[in-house]
This record gives sequence, C-alpha cells and structure tokens, in this order.
Amino acid sequence: MHRRIITPGALAAASLLLAIPASAASHSPGAPGIGDPYYPAYGNGGYDVSHYDLRLTYQPADDRLAGTATLLARTTQDLSRFNLDFLLDVSEVRVNGSKAAFATSGEHELQITPSRPLAEGTSVTVVVRYSGVPSSKRAYGFTSWLRTADGGVAAGEPESAWWWYPSNDHPRDKATFDVSVQVPDGTQAISNGTLQATSSRAGWTRYSWRSDKPQATYLATLAVGRFDVTRATTDSGIPVINAYSKDLGGHDGAARASIERTGEIADWLTGYFGPYPYNALGGYVPNTTTGYALETQTRPFYSPRQFANGANTSLVVHELAHQWYGDLVSVSQWRDIWINEGFARYAQWLWSEHEGEGTAQEIADYVYASRPADDPFWTVRPGDPGPENQFHLAVYDRGALALQALRNAIGDEDFFAILKGWPHTYAHGDASVDDFVRYAERVSGERLTGLFDTWLFQPSKPGAPAAADAALPTRAAGTEGAPRQPASWKKIAATNGVHDHGDAHGHTR
Ligand SMILES: [Zn+2]
Repeated sequence: MHRRIITPGALAAASLLLAIPASAASHSPGAPGIGDPYYPAYGNGGYDVSHYDLRLTYQPADDRLAGTATLLARTTQDLSRFNLDFLLDVSEVRVNGSKAAFATSGEHELQITPSRPLAEGTSVTVVVRYSGVPSSKRAYGFTSWLRTADGGVAAGEPESAWWWYPSNDHPRDKATFDVSVQVPDGTQAISNGTLQATSSRAGWTRYSWRSDKPQATYLATLAVGRFDVTRATTDSGIPVINAYSKDLGGHDGAARASIERTGEIADWLTGYFGPYPYNALGGYVPNTTTGYALETQTRPFYSPRQFANGANTSLVVHELAHQWYGDLVSVSQWRDIWINEGFARYAQWLWSEHEGEGTAQEIADYVYASRPADDPFWTVRPGDPGPENQFHLAVYDRGALALQALRNAIGDEDFFAILKGWPHTYAHGDASVDDFVRYAERVSGERLTGLFDTWLFQPSKPGAPAAADAALPTRAAGTEGAPRQPASWKKIAATNGVHDHGDAHGHTR
C-alpha cells in the first residue's frame, strides 16, 4: 500500500475529483472482451451496437483505405470508457459529438475515453475517422485482409472486421449496416445486401450497399476489384447480384455455373428452413489465391480454386444454408459452431438426395462406416470442439451425423419441423447448442440429452448400440456389405476446406 503525503496541490486535485457528479463514481471501463472463452479479447463489454455507417475510399494501387465509421450504440452499464476492435490508424474519435481521447492496447483494441462518462441505458453515437493500409496490419501475427492484383477483400471467420472498420466484433452483437465505398472508375466495390446507389465523380465511383436486417460483424464483407456483375431475380422475388473477378481465367465458367444457381438453391432451401430471411442474395468470387468460402450475409464469398474441378452446387448449398444457420441465427459463443456447420453440411446431404446422388442416410452410413474407432476424427467433440478445432472436419461430418441420428430417433415429421422452426424461433438473434437441445426436446416431446451427449460431446466413436438406434451400419468400410461411397461424396468432400483458413487457429495469412 502506498502512503501519500497530502500537499495543497493534491488537495486541490481531490476537490476537483469531488466536483464530478456523484453518479460518475459508479462508472467503470467496459470489458476489453465480450466474454467468449474461445477468444477472450473478441468483442467488448458495456454497450450494444445497433447500426454501422461506413463511408470509405479505397485505392487499389496502394491498398489504402480511409474514411469515417459512425456507430449507433446503447450502453449496458455506466461507462467511464469502452473499447472497439480495430487495427487501422485512427485520427479522431467523437462520442455524442464531443472529441474523445483514444489509445490502442492489446492486439486489436481501440480504447475510447469520452469527455463525459456515459450512463447505462443511453444512446451513444461514436464517430471514428481513420485510414491505413489493411494488408500491413497484423494481430496475433496474421492478417485476414486478402490483397489481390486489383484490390482487396475482407472475408474471414471469426476475424475480418478489424482490417476495415471498428466494431464490437462478436456475433452476439449484431447490427444493420450502410457500407458506402468510393473506388477508382472501372473498379467495383461489393458488399452485403442491396445496392442502394452508385454515383461517379472526378474519376471515382461510389457504391452504397445496405443491410437492413441485423448482421454479425464477421459476416460483413468488402471486396474491391474489377468485377463482372450479373443480376437476376428469384421466383420468390429476391434480387440476386453476383460478382466475378475479371481474372478468374479457366475457373470462370465453373464458378458461374455454380453461383448463377444461387436463386434456385435459395428457393429450394426455403422448403426445409422456411422463408428466405433477407431482401438480397448473391455471391462473389474475387481473384484470391485462397481455398475457402464464407457465408458473408446475403452474398457469400467463394475462392476461385474451389471451381478448379468444375461446378460445385454443393458448395453454394452450404453457404446459402448458413444464411439461416449461422447468419439469421448466430452462435452465442464460438463454441456453438456446430449450430452453423453441422446444419450447413446436412443441407449438402439433403441436396445430394434432391439430385439423386445419395440419400442423407446413405451418406451418414458411409461417414460412420469409413472412420474406424481409432481415427482421431472421433476425438473432436462437435458440441465444444475447442478454438483449435473450431473448423475441424468432425464439426461438419460428425455434426451432420448427429442430425441424422436425431432424425432417426424422433422421425421425419418432428425433425423437419425443428429444421424449419429453429431459424424462425431465434431469428436475427443468437443461440447455443444447449438452446438447440432444449428446442428439439420441446418440439419432439422426447428426452434427447443422451443422444446429443453421444453424438456431440463424447470424445470417441459412438458404439454399436448408438449406431443401431440411429439406424447406422456397424459394418466397417472395405468389409462385405459395407456402405458404398455415394455419388455426391466427392463434390461434398471438395467443400471440406470450406472454412479452412490455412493454420491451426483457422486464420488466413
Ligand atoms: Zn460452413
């Protein structure tokens, strides 16, 4: 403990402190993380964002991004200061119109101290002026910004926002977005939602996009480059905007033959998941060297390499299934990733059945039979895989197996009622694996904790009794009577790297 000698100066300072309203004494800093055990520094505490307005200029020649972000938020505690997650260089911050002090800390924290403390439950407007070269910024040793020959792309999970806009970067805090980006004439800026306007002036063209339904921060995307843009409308009336880099070379035809079927596939998915939840649809393929795809809201990101062996509609099914499972209903915490990936993979199995290339049961049989009990695949627990295994294949394949087991346990009627009811019940919010188990029990009227424990939480291959309950075969691959490889298997397996970002932590480098 420090003893202090009271001097007249210190007394004056003390009396100044006393001049602050008594209520300010309860104000404290917002937490530097939202409270996710997988990623303790992701997101922030003390406020909730309702809207992001991003007005930016991007110059592909030198990868320079500059502009202003205006955030509308509401405090959830008395705040003396709060954080945003961000990596670019900030020149000014204003809170409710007044200049605020700011500093950087940690790997990606922008710490903001407003001139006056903020009371709980009040509206706050935060304006951040910034600029920088996204490809030059790193956190934890990596960058998620994808620099291309003609521009750049922000598309990464769980992290991509830090390189292009300041945010409360966690799926639990969704918001609406206006993204308006000015780029040199001849270049396009692609983002989520509807294209509200374009305007040209003095060699620059501005693209203004709007997402009018809540969107998780990692699902916001920006792609600048030279694109060929196609437009269509689905049978259900949703406008479709797709964008293809002009430099896709030999992959161009296969990319278009897949992504131009977006409207058809989205309409097909409504039969299983209920009405399409947004007013825009599409996909885009920039000229990146990456190998993954991402369910960026309304307009998924696809890598050119995914079309190296021809069209793959199964990939489009996966990303569009996420519009319900992942986007409309987001993970409460990143450990809940099965809610996203198990269901997007299961949608691929349903598509296989629709295409006459193997039923969901046949694919489940094959997955179960072709992985022996000592395969490390079975040590990953899809219901809580750990951050290092968040995008492990087991989350997808064993995750979809769990759904087939559920389907066989409760019957098609309840199973498909759950598939359709869940996105509606938790629409525009977030939910956990536990929430799903409870929901499935409520709809089916059956006790299901044992089933989910076996298929999602045990670090071992479910044994013969569980397999028999799930109508899965006990014959091993290669033995007589073992399941044959379904016709759709190779196309589904080709999407295995769908979220494989290149290293153990799932990051793009
Ligand atoms: Zn996925």
